[in-house]
Amino acid sequence: MYLYSGMADVAAATGDEAYVKALDRLWVNTVQRKMYITGAIGSTRHGEAFGANYQLPNDTAYGETCASIGMCLWNHRMNLLHADAKYADTFERTAYNGVLAGVDLGGEKFFYVNPLASDGNHHRQAFFGCACCPTNVVRFIPSVPGYVYAVDGDRLYVNLYAAGQGKVKLAVGAVALYQKTRYPWDGNVKITIKPDAGAGEFDIMLRIPAWCAAEAPKDALYQPAPLPADQVKPTIKVNGQAVENPDMVKGYARLHRTWKAGDTVELNMPMPIRRVHAHPSVAADIGRVALQRGPVVYCFEGADNGGTIDNFYLPADAPMTSEFRKDLLGGVMVIKAKATTLSSADPRNTLSLIDVLAVPYYAWDHRQAGPMAVWMPEDPAKAQAKPPAGK
Ligand SMILES: [Zn+2]
Repeated sequence: MYLYSGMADVAAATGDEAYVKALDRLWVNTVQRKMYITGAIGSTRHGEAFGANYQLPNDTAYGETCASIGMCLWNHRMNLLHADAKYADTFERTAYNGVLAGVDLGGEKFFYVNPLASDGNHHRQAFFGCACCPTNVVRFIPSVPGYVYAVDGDRLYVNLYAAGQGKVKLAVGAVALYQKTRYPWDGNVKITIKPDAGAGEFDIMLRIPAWCAAEAPKDALYQPAPLPADQVKPTIKVNGQAVENPDMVKGYARLHRTWKAGDTVELNMPMPIRRVHAHPSVAADIGRVALQRGPVVYCFEGADNGGTIDNFYLPADAPMTSEFRKDLLGGVMVIKAKATTLSSADPRNTLSLIDVLAVPYYAWDHRQAGPMAVWMPEDPAKAQAKPPAGK
């Protein structure tokens, strides 16, 4: 990832087409064949390496915290190189899930390895003999504000949605921005714009996240179950007036006008719970489903589910709701579902419905030790209890 980041910097500085083509091929292979749903990469401990295409085991996943940070560093540079929102989408996926799981809520314990399933014996540590991950987290987290906006001449790109204020320098002068939002729990974002000169003509490019799409592109590694467009379609308002069918440029909604101090942009992104399936070539995820809401990937832990997570499955019609629990894990949106219990002797022997609860993956391993899984059986006849190691 550091090599690719350096290549992207060189390509941006020199315009070397051979580097750009190589980077584009590497990106497609990484994101469409070798990335976990959490944005983590590196499926094998041997050589801390990528595996073969679609080799994405969950319990033996390596997914080093540093590799996720490297994914963010590389995707940030690819975004600057191509001005395409798909790289910011990947940055966001990795930052909220693969990276954030690497540090506990108190900021004092770290994962080196980030599996997507555990039997309860994997826990964050205060430090490691090879201490790359803790120090990399300490470097990365305070740098996040620097990834929120990007500029190109008179184009202002909004890449991340996060409450706060920032200032960017456009060709027309400096512009201050104030974002109000509860993202990632809520998709309402209000941005107030204040050009230093009082007014200025420029583009505001709002990233419309890939997770807002009714369905994913055919070649995507992770496919959310399609939803009707009206359940997912974001809406945009400028000074309270709806902007219908904005000009879309590489995943960004382009808003061009003479912006005056106090102008507001409101983006409202619906956040339904999405049931996500992996490409059928990912053996470990066959017959399984993962839950995602906005950019946040969820997991099931024994701590919320009577100590075990291997006695139920999530059929396609399982009712689900989300609810904000400020008392839990520092304040998280949870997903409550009606799961179907099953007998371990006969996976098709359906017993009854039970209430189960999923929490954001980044917040796992904060309570009593127990099992955890991101990918849950959806079809117990197809999902293997334990997929063969390394597949
Ligand atoms: Zn590391």
